Amino acid sequence: MARVYNFSPGPSVLAESVLRKAQKELPEYQSTGMSVMEMSHRSGMYMEIYSEAVKRITDLMAIPAQYKVLFLQGGATQQFSAVPLNMLRTGRADYIDSGNFAHLAAEEAKRYGDIHIAASSREDCYTYVPDWTRTNFSAAADYLHITTNNTIYGTRYTDLPRSSAPLVADMSSNILSEPYHVHDFGVIYAGAQKNIGPAGLCILIVREDLLSDAHPLCPQLLNWRVQAKNDSMYNTPNTFGIYMAMLGFEWLKEQGGVCGIEKQNIEKAALLYDCIDASALFKGTARKDCRSRMNVTFITGSEALDDQFVKEASKNGLVNLKGHRTVGGMRASIYNAMPAEGVEKLVNFMRQFEKENT
Ligand code: PMP
Repeated sequence: MARVYNFSPGPSVLAESVLRKAQKELPEYQSTGMSVMEMSHRSGMYMEIYSEAVKRITDLMAIPAQYKVLFLQGGATQQFSAVPLNMLRTGRADYIDSGNFAHLAAEEAKRYGDIHIAASSREDCYTYVPDWTRTNFSAAADYLHITTNNTIYGTRYTDLPRSSAPLVADMSSNILSEPYHVHDFGVIYAGAQKNIGPAGLCILIVREDLLSDAHPLCPQLLNWRVQAKNDSMYNTPNTFGIYMAMLGFEWLKEQGGVCGIEKQNIEKAALLYDCIDASALFKGTARKDCRSRMNVTFITGSEALDDQFVKEASKNGLVNLKGHRTVGGMRASIYNAMPAEGVEKLVNFMRQFEKENT
């Protein structure tokens, strides 16, 4: 069976060596006599896996000691609720509205507090990250929320906004793809299904001083302090997902860690953007200075031709290139595990398609 090149925005491609390792260990993990899926989450054998996963991401991201790493459920969307429930004190928070998920995060937070949209590019179809440098952040906000990479629109922050409040980042679509200084953030969260492992897992990295009293009605499962006290095991966690993340972290270390993969990601993205910029047919939709290295969005200008491109690409083993349903066009998601050959094959296909259709 031949594997395709999967440009899905998530769940997305995993490294083949990770899948093979999981396959090998599926019926019996090391010498435990059972599959990881069959282990009690409280058993010593499983706790070793859990601790190793925490240790590996801590090493990869150089997470300082005063931060807690949690492996939660409910995806990034659950954190859209958990962030205000755990962090609102004065009741006010600033949000930068840079894309669909940034918008959804703010809309959810509005259910709990006084949410100020500090900057937005919504009126321009989120084709860029809004300019926050001229923004007046609230004087007494409990936090400032951003989305570091906008999955649907293919944009990313090249510089982090700073206000006097702790910075909270939804890093779902670019975590571990480029180095960040964790101490610049109060909280980082990310759904796992792009750069980490299978869906059903959400990583939360939270500075310990922010683990204070949550809203009295905050469900226990969403309460970060409760989860931190229980090492993500207030209830049964996604044990297999955490194991897969542990394997993914090991693979990433073999790639030279976050700095090593960043180099590969810059090269892969450049290959694709250079192709788009040199083309008379394809046009990038994101403003050049905020182009994402993870999600490359482009159009031909004709919906019919876009459709034809996506269909023909798929026949050539280049799958899931259709843009998000709200924006159309094409999107190539080229996360950490997308091999350079996948991008090379896509670029060759685009050149061929252009020749045949112009
Ligand atoms: N934030 C971003 C940036 C995303 O790309 C996504 C999903 N594509 C989400 C949040 C929602 O994540 P989940 O489906 O894990 O809740």
